Amino acid sequence: MKIHEYQAKELLKKFNIPVQDGVTIESIEESDNAINQIKTKFGVNQFVVKAQIHAGGRGLGGGVKFSPSEASAKENIQKILGMTLKTHQTAPEGQLVRKVMVTEAIDIDKEFYVAITLDRALGQDVIMVSTEGGMEIEEVAAKSPEKIIRELVAPGYGLKTFQAKRLVKALGLTGDLAKQGVKFLANLYRCYEALDASIVEVNPLVVTEQGKLVALDAKFNFDDNAMYRQKEVLEFRDVDEEDPTEVEAGKYNLNYIKLEGNVGCMVNGAGLAMATMDIIKQQGGEPANFLDVGGGANVETVKNGFKIILSDKNVKAVLINIFGGIVRCDRVANGIIEALSELKLDVPVVVRLQGTNADIAKELLEKASVDIISVSSLAEAAEQVVAAATA
Ligand code: ADP
Ligand code: MG
Repeated sequence: MKIHEYQAKELLKKFNIPVQDGVTIESIEESDNAINQIKTKFGVNQFVVKAQIHAGGRGLGGGVKFSPSEASAKENIQKILGMTLKTHQTAPEGQLVRKVMVTEAIDIDKEFYVAITLDRALGQDVIMVSTEGGMEIEEVAAKSPEKIIRELVAPGYGLKTFQAKRLVKALGLTGDLAKQGVKFLANLYRCYEALDASIVEVNPLVVTEQGKLVALDAKFNFDDNAMYRQKEVLEFRDVDEEDPTEVEAGKYNLNYIKLEGNVGCMVNGAGLAMATMDIIKQQGGEPANFLDVGGGANVETVKNGFKIILSDKNVKAVLINIFGGIVRCDRVANGIIEALSELKLDVPVVVRLQGTNADIAKELLEKASVDIISVSSLAEAAEQVVAAATA
């Protein structure tokens, strides 16, 4: 799960992390009030207006605007609210901006990059810092990775002060700023751990001309499986920012991820789903989605699965690939038959059922008056469905 910058900053504040605060609004009518609040609170006449969407790269996409006067701030709010913002992290068609944050413009001395995530290969959290913070961090990672300094956190030990000091030194901070830096990293790690985050990224972490270290931007990703114990974080969920089909699938307990191809896939088990996508690609096709229907592939799941898959207009053929381990293939076959006779499909459906009672299932499918292509092997299934999708 992801959240907005303004929400991320709320969370950081709870962990005593200095953030650049702002006022977030959803309509143009609130502009004057927001601008006034910033003006009185910080005593400034220059503002920055920032689009609130779940994707990063807003600055480069035109979603972060320096506004040297109240009038210009108002103008920029009007421009940004309701715009479709395209960044390297949004879908190609962009993301509608429903909220903007108004902040004070500050004088920045330095911009750093700080992030914490789990290194899955090493099984340890990694803290990364770079003096090359700001809007081009992806390029730094690609072209000069040595400019990103890392510390691994041993599980159960937490971030040690000597590690924080090493990172702060790598940023070139000394004196009071170094102290602020050590405290910042310690609190950021505490926050990351306590909230079950999978990523926290502060880019940029700035040194202001007044010598203060402040989080100017903040991004979180959270572990979805931990959200049951993070009620406060869950409150921040904004489904407007999520793919509508994925939200719908979640309601039926289906794990659905939309992809770019035209071969719809309905599979049980994440591993089999991955293998199915691989073999479709090997046959020269492109999967339209990842869909794991889970353990109990019954009429309801198959029906809901079809609805979700076919809401994607790119889908030209569907492959159902179910392994009957705990679930019996004949039950799945009945589910497919019932679902198909209820829903009128206009795309070809290839079915491969293997496992318990596969023979009975094949017979049921052959006898039924539904229009499907029944196959036995995975290779044949992939070949048939790719042919059907390109026909
Ligand atoms: P994104 O990462 O989505 O592009 P940021 O919040 O990081 O958005 O803003 C992009 C850049 O805009 C920052 O790196 C910083 O240089 C500048 N910026 C953002 N907010 C302010 C501010 N309040 N005052 C001065 N500069 C700012
Ligand atoms: Mg940023």
